[in-house]
Amino acid sequence: MTSDEFKQLGYRLIDWIAEYRARVEHLPVMAQVEPGFLQSQLPAQPPERALGFRGIEEELERLLPGLVGWQSPHFFAYFPSNAPLHSVLADIVATGMGQIGLSWQAAPALTELEEVMNDWLRQMLGLPPEFRGVIQDTASTGTLVAMLSARERSTDHSQARGGLQAEEKPLVVYASDQAHSSVPKAALLAGFGRDNLRLIETDGDHAMRVDRLEEAILGDLAEGKRPCAVVATVGTTATTAIDPVSSIAALAGQYGLWLHVDAALAGSAMILPECRALWEGVERADSLVINPHKWLGVAFDCSLYYVRDPEHLIRVMSTNPSYLQTAADGLAPNYRDWGIPLGRRFRALKIWFALLAEGVEGLQARLRRDLDNARWLEAQVRQAPGWRVLAPVPLQTVCVRYEPEGLEGEGLDRLTLEWVNRINRSGAAYLTPAILQGRWMVRVSIGAEMTERRHVEALWRRMREEAERAASQMR
Ligand code: PLP
Repeated sequence: MTSDEFKQLGYRLIDWIAEYRARVEHLPVMAQVEPGFLQSQLPAQPPERALGFRGIEEELERLLPGLVGWQSPHFFAYFPSNAPLHSVLADIVATGMGQIGLSWQAAPALTELEEVMNDWLRQMLGLPPEFRGVIQDTASTGTLVAMLSARERSTDHSQARGGLQAEEKPLVVYASDQAHSSVPKAALLAGFGRDNLRLIETDGDHAMRVDRLEEAILGDLAEGKRPCAVVATVGTTATTAIDPVSSIAALAGQYGLWLHVDAALAGSAMILPECRALWEGVERADSLVINPHKWLGVAFDCSLYYVRDPEHLIRVMSTNPSYLQTAADGLAPNYRDWGIPLGRRFRALKIWFALLAEGVEGLQARLRRDLDNARWLEAQVRQAPGWRVLAPVPLQTVCVRYEPEGLEGEGLDRLTLEWVNRINRSGAAYLTPAILQGRWMVRVSIGAEMTERRHVEALWRRMREEAERAASQMR
């Protein structure tokens, strides 16, 4: 592609993106397609000759039915994953610059912008200066890195000897029974084994019970095992429950555990000083992960991993083959030694663009709007006959169930799935059903960039209509 062709096509595609975003509010939120919808429309073999881009807009339109409205104001499913248009541009610039961050020397601007952005974000989150950050692709990767770091600290770098298999005492990891699936996955991949992963019981608010954590630690010590790491979740996936970080940190200190804080979703809220009490004690964590690619307004993928001891991280992660050594080693960070991949994208540009476009104040205002919308919805649900709010609402997720008189148990499950699926199938809004304490409920996750109060009001009207209609049909 020549430079002129790039410009012409680029302008056309920017127009297409802008128009898609303008239309997204009116498109079905959940994709209304069946598996295989696209495969049947595409040739089975790749084109032998270049076909060019004439008609590419029409080709892209073919994908539309298979696009999910993550950027729609009617998106209340999973978690907000905002991709503002400034992030789209940052991604284009990043790819346009074609940088690969193997080391400072391989990409000085990428490395240094990342250093500055990690520190700006640290300040925005109110974290202490000793916390040093690195951008990872996802929280799952950050948590895996945390588990590997914990393992190596507990074993005084077993990787330099016989590895975990040569250890006499099995190492144990603790997390709550509400921890994200990435936590058990990371513990298993880091070699802890299913028998050495304890999912600690949660309380009525779905937060980790610290008394149960201590009992588990003592039980493992009595059995000759070695407690190694605990993961505290600030903002669990199902209900945004908040594990008591401060008390968990005290136990971690007492028994020598690595404390990893998973604040993948909720971390964004900590740019608001009024939310920081929720993660009190975080300054005592050994590692912390937050996902700006969720609620903050930096497009996927961009996950921040902070550690208090970067030297330990580097010792666990570093590789130093001759072809990667440079004269700048030791003078500037080589982020390949702060995580798993060698090659790294220029993700810091997206954080920079977000701050240029919105400033800290703009980001804070949007998050406060979302918190306010969640509180409004919570109040409506609490007042409506037959409706229940099932968990505290510390942030932007409201967990609800419609429980009309005379329905319970499996009948209630059927009703819940019926009304939520009706809404999802209609395309008007998208919600996620999930199981909480053995029963289906519906999570309303507020925080898409375009979601205003009127969209939440429209959702609440629709929820009532569909749930009450489905209930009357079941009677
Ligand atoms: N941790 C929590 C609490 C989450 O809610 C999620 C995603 O929903 C994750 C981790 C995983 O995030 P990622 O997709 O960045 O790995």
